Amino acid sequence: MKKKKADCIVRAEYLLPMDDHLSVMTDGAVAVKDGKIKCLGRYEEIASRYDSPAIIGGSGRVVLPGLINTHTHAAMVYFRGLADDLPLKQWLENHIWPAESRWLSPEFVSDAVELACLEMVKAGITTYNDMYFFGDAAGNATKKIGVRAVLGAGIVDFPTVAGKTADEYLGKAGDFIERWKGDALITPCIAPHSLYACGPETLKRARKLADHHDVPVHIHLSETQWEVQEILSRYGKRPVHYLEDINLLENRVLAAHCVWIEEDEIQLLARHEVGVSHCVESNLKLASGIAPVTRMLDAGIKVTFGTDSAASNNDLNIFSELSTAAKLHKTVSGDPTALDSRKALLMATRWGAEVLGLGRLTGSIEEGKAADLVVVDLGRPHLTPIYDIYSHIAYSVKASDVESVIVGGKVIVSKGQFCSGDEAGIMAKAKQWGKKICKGRDVQHGQQ
Ligand SMILES: [Zn+2]
Repeated sequence: MKKKKADCIVRAEYLLPMDDHLSVMTDGAVAVKDGKIKCLGRYEEIASRYDSPAIIGGSGRVVLPGLINTHTHAAMVYFRGLADDLPLKQWLENHIWPAESRWLSPEFVSDAVELACLEMVKAGITTYNDMYFFGDAAGNATKKIGVRAVLGAGIVDFPTVAGKTADEYLGKAGDFIERWKGDALITPCIAPHSLYACGPETLKRARKLADHHDVPVHIHLSETQWEVQEILSRYGKRPVHYLEDINLLENRVLAAHCVWIEEDEIQLLARHEVGVSHCVESNLKLASGIAPVTRMLDAGIKVTFGTDSAASNNDLNIFSELSTAAKLHKTVSGDPTALDSRKALLMATRWGAEVLGLGRLTGSIEEGKAADLVVVDLGRPHLTPIYDIYSHIAYSVKASDVESVIVGGKVIVSKGQFCSGDEAGIMAKAKQWGKKICKGRDVQHGQQ
């Protein structure tokens, strides 16, 4: 039988397709052609059917679907470590917002998103869900690096450097969606910031716009106790009830945080099939609280992992998020069997893609899906010996163990080296911006 041609074959000692059975294939391989997964199976079988100019991975490796970061503000990597160890309000009002109004521009977003994508892809993240401003700059930078993103056009009711009124933000969001709809890597969406930053009229109009364009809504929800009290005092209802009353939950909503939600709110989120992004490290660092993750999972909610911004976290690392969450929720629930390692990886991959509406495209290693693959090198002291590969991923693997990353069939990281752009140039630009931002901060604080 004549062999078919593949663009590359990815081989690993352990192949985790993240299929319905959460199976483990030993000495597995994936044939990649035209950006897609053509076939997967035992290496011998794949090698007998496909000719390939390149074999990526090999023994002592695990291949898994690219990780999905379901909530971030990528461009804020340039504010990483700008201000830490502060209460949320003081952190935002005295540090982050002034820095944003001083520095945000399309050029800033473009340069910063390149750094964020570089950081994410080297850590095995192949898709991220973003909420910010200057989406065109973010989209172009993301495409340049070659990763996948859902980019939410940020909407608030007050003036920022990106707009003045809700009208303007909504108008820009509509135009942004028109421009990016159908792009192979970028999915546009609408991101009304939160219930406290957008009034009911703005939220209703955002819902309408999302329905009109058939795109998801990405929103912060019940991150802090302050927020819940604020919504209760403004509208006499808890946040999830309020969102239900204004019909925001009707279709395809991704809610970030969901820390302070009660049982009946959990049931409502489940009924509306709202996807949740659990940003455990950001919530811990800002002392926002601990989301009731096991109760949400029990209710049937697809809980996934988000890093939130690098200004509050302070990195973009889903391996670390899933590890922290898997441990924390055992203690919180008093049940060491809660959030086991298989579930944690499912939440970080297939469910992440599904809550973003990308379930048919990515999130698992299945024939016909995009070839979004991560190869991890297991030949490290902290990964030896191996009894259960899922356990290793949840509790032992570090982002720096990622060896190769493929997005849509394109090799972005090979043997630890970024090969889809100029890493040194991206780093040099980031350092230059850092110097400018540092000077600006010293001036601002000197004047106070
Ligand atoms: Zn956020």
